[in-house]
Amino acid sequence: MKKFCSNCGNELAEGADVCTKCGKMVNASNAAAGSKNKIVAAVLAFFLGTFGAHNFYLGHTSKAVTQLVLTIIGYITLIFLIGSLFIMATGIWAFIEFIMILTGSIKDSDGNALV
Ligand SMILES: [Zn+2]
Repeated sequence: MKKFCSNCGNELAEGADVCTKCGKMVNASNAAAGSKNKIVAAVLAFFLGTFGAHNFYLGHTSKAVTQLVLTIIGYITLIFLIGSLFIMATGIWAFIEFIMILTGSIKDSDGNALV
């Protein structure tokens, strides 16, 4: 049975671990469920969610950077009081994603469910 890269559609050599065209890791056991752990993601979201840690872990880098930047802006502007709004908003955002991770609504950046 032929396999194709989920990223670029390139045909894969039998038993290949890496796509020769785009360099993406491809793994047969990866097809149904992802390799990212739900508990790890949930713990990261709960304790370091305002820094985007869970999104960095899941590969949602742009979302993670947004959360990190909002939190940094929040701490920098904390002296002007407005900063607490940024930190609170990011905290609520991260907490919602913490719940969504637990309920399985969030997938990793490859679209695979968390295991
Ligand atoms: Zn590829």
